[in-house]
Amino acid sequence: MIVSLFDPWRSRLCTCPRKYSLNPYTGCSHGCIYCYITSYIPRAFEARPKRNLLRQLRRELRRLDPRIPVTIANSSDPYQPLERVHRHTRACLKLLQKFNFGVEVVTKGDLVARDAPLLAEMRSAVAVTVTTLDEDIAARLEPSAPSPERRLRAMQQLVERGVNVACRIDPVIPGVNEGVEELVRELDAIGVRHVTSSTFKPRFDSWRRFCDAFPEQAARLKELYFEKGRRVQNSYYLPEELRRRLMLRVRSACSKHGITFAVCREGLGLNTAPSCDGTHLLSSHTRDAQHAHRGQHNHHTGDEHPE
Ligand code: SF4
Repeated sequence: MIVSLFDPWRSRLCTCPRKYSLNPYTGCSHGCIYCYITSYIPRAFEARPKRNLLRQLRRELRRLDPRIPVTIANSSDPYQPLERVHRHTRACLKLLQKFNFGVEVVTKGDLVARDAPLLAEMRSAVAVTVTTLDEDIAARLEPSAPSPERRLRAMQQLVERGVNVACRIDPVIPGVNEGVEELVRELDAIGVRHVTSSTFKPRFDSWRRFCDAFPEQAARLKELYFEKGRRVQNSYYLPEELRRRLMLRVRSACSKHGITFAVCREGLGLNTAPSCDGTHLLSSHTRDAQHAHRGQHNHHTGDEHPE
């Protein structure tokens, strides 16, 4: 199966609406240290294209329900470098458009801006993950992904084309990437309409990579994760009070800028958005909504949002 119902380990903390999941590639070369796909995909950071992808996708789309949106992708980045060569993601989008499916793209790849005109014609939203504005921290967290600056530029290009854009500030790791206020200010300036955030929930393999990349921070967080926190299935959670504090900071920054907010698999009940994952953006009329936002934004530049 190329398309399946999204069901992250049957997690009772997942609040996502019903949606399909589609990965045009197996694995992901961005190699983010916090990534969880290494726990279930062999050679996860060696990305490869899927065989017979389009033939199989066409067959499956004929019998799937177009009222249920498709997220692309949850276990690989659809705009990783392979896409420049194979253009599988673009071909999938065209097929999904033909079969009238709504699509939410989740990516760190600035190559997504290439498909802005196509996405603007579809019922679509794009969630770009940006965990920090600090280029050095980003390079340690997401060694082979485009820089935050390139991602922000891609978001800007999408917004200018009339695509609904959300941001995933995910994961937030205490003492590593806490500069959320500045980041959210940038997102507002661009015209981002929704933020989904969550705290780092390591599994054993991602924890090992984190220890290698951030040894001091790992030494400080070890007790919080493995003694004071709790285990949920195969993931380790920080103590609830700390997770709440971190997520409230992001929410408060978003509220200040009129951006909707939701958490991902935290179980904290902090959401201000109709959907946690940003799929509610699919129902808004893309171009009108963006233009309305831009107009509104132009009226409140400057000191109306003092930090
Ligand atoms: S972009 Fe996503 S799927 Fe790819 S390595 Fe990073 S976290 Fe994993």
